[in-house]
Amino acid sequence: MFRKWSRKKYNGYRLERRIKAKETVFFMLGDKCAHCGNADKRVLQLDHKHGRHGEPRIDNLWEALLYGVEPFDKYQLLCANCNWIKRHENNECKINLTEKQQWMKAVNILNKHIDAAIAAGLPVLNPRPIK
Ligand SMILES: [Zn+2]
Repeated sequence: MFRKWSRKKYNGYRLERRIKAKETVFFMLGDKCAHCGNADKRVLQLDHKHGRHGEPRIDNLWEALLYGVEPFDKYQLLCANCNWIKRHENNECKINLTEKQQWMKAVNILNKHIDAAIAAGLPVLNPRPIK
């Protein structure tokens, strides 16, 4: 009983800290979309100015920024619309793949499933890799 309450309290404290850190980071980045000026906090997102390039996501990014573990100048605030438009223009999203690229991606996933099924000794009707 004591432990449950203690965990709950700890999680609440962590959440409160995260929210405060996020609010501070937003304030330091201008509290509005760097592109269109939208200041509605419900749609503001933290954007990697030059893309993430497959770097792993940083755990607790808000505090990492506040304590200088991550440099502030790598990031900007964008509203969801500007962020998605930027992703499209930089070819960072799936919808920009050609039909053939989308097909090849699906085929690769399917072949991985077939390989896994074969490795697990499951019966596979047509084990040839699809091309
Ligand atoms: Zn915007």
